[in-house]
Amino acid sequence: MTDALVFRRVRAIDPAGALDAEVDVVVEAGRVTRVGRDAAKDFVAGERVRVVELAGGWLLPGLIDLHAHLREPGSEGKEDVASGLRAAAAGGFVDVCCMPNTWPVNDSRVVTEMLVAKARAIGTVRLHPIGAITMGQKGEHLTEMADLKDAGAVAVSDDGRCVTNSQVMRRALEYATTFDLPLIQHAEDHALTEGAQMHEGAVSTRLGLRGWPRVAEDVIVARDVLLAEYVGARYHVAHVSTMGAVRLVREAKARGIAVTAEVTPHHLLLTDQALLGYDTACKVTPPLREPEDVEALRRALADGTIDCVATDHAPHGVLDKHVEMAEAAPGMIGLELCLPLLLGLVRDGFLPLGRLVDALTGAAARIVGLPAPRIRDGARADLVLVDPAARWTVDPARLKTKSRNTPFAGREVTGRVMMTVCEGRVIHE
Ligand SMILES: [Zn+2]
Repeated sequence: MTDALVFRRVRAIDPAGALDAEVDVVVEAGRVTRVGRDAAKDFVAGERVRVVELAGGWLLPGLIDLHAHLREPGSEGKEDVASGLRAAAAGGFVDVCCMPNTWPVNDSRVVTEMLVAKARAIGTVRLHPIGAITMGQKGEHLTEMADLKDAGAVAVSDDGRCVTNSQVMRRALEYATTFDLPLIQHAEDHALTEGAQMHEGAVSTRLGLRGWPRVAEDVIVARDVLLAEYVGARYHVAHVSTMGAVRLVREAKARGIAVTAEVTPHHLLLTDQALLGYDTACKVTPPLREPEDVEALRRALADGTIDCVATDHAPHGVLDKHVEMAEAAPGMIGLELCLPLLLGLVRDGFLPLGRLVDALTGAAARIVGLPAPRIRDGARADLVLVDPAARWTVDPARLKTKSRNTPFAGREVTGRVMMTVCEGRVIHE
């Protein structure tokens, strides 16, 4: 056990504190104790002092993911809390929120407590369960949200399913507001997406696959915004994928409604063209859209209309994906690829680095009411060290997640998480 962990001459980037400078950062007893030029000059590497030097390295606040599927309980062959948290640490995350569409569904105190206890016993990345909105995610009867919150849930969502009944949604918004729990909607009008395998457009016509129109997302966001305004509730849209939903969120914010939104790395980087080879790794929910949607999403993330990035990490086994498109399970892994992939958008000029860091830290933290990791004196030491110049090729077999389902296999990326520190402890390197 070292007494001090010292980062010497790193570029520390903490947009919340307007920090972007080459400094030393010292961690002692789980806290950041010094930040500044030559702040670590009194520290000499030794038995009790670990000095980390990485030429050109960046030090960021630890990342937060609002939307991950860790598959426990019920589908531990795809992922479990332990492997999911290892993947999260390898991706630079210190806080992960896990969705309730497990088996059984996390609609009760028992499941939430089990998840919290498992993660605590592992003692690395902090896990924050998201409870269901309705019992069994059936869209009918509301869960005991007070119990869920008391057990450690930070939000409610029926992710994987949409709350389509307007009366249930109204009551859910009112009930969640009572307990100050953000409600996260998976915006999909299921009547419009029955049998859908991909985005509805020219590519789906060409491939002869049943399409999922943009409007299936847009009608739900439009209705929900009106309901949230009517009852005075907070409302968060999961994985926004359409330019129409972006416009609705932008208008709602301009009118002062408490709406927030997240976007996934894959919706920022891929279009429905990726499906042309019938690659089931590209089947996701909501589906990959068209270039004008990608452009709208990038612009909205850059200008803050979309608050944060969430991975929608969705591990699946080989047998779930090596089937026809119609049978393939939707989703792709994301925790370990999120930061490297999005650093590409920064390099290409689509996204300011400070905005990306905010979208993965402070902005995400605010939505679920978690303390945001910071780089400043006295802050809890939640940090990620990145080598922005490291080039590597994505090899799913070398990732920490149990699953391999990613269309980014074989892609060369630049930027690598070298070390993740959570509460002063190195949890990945
Ligand atoms: Zn979803």
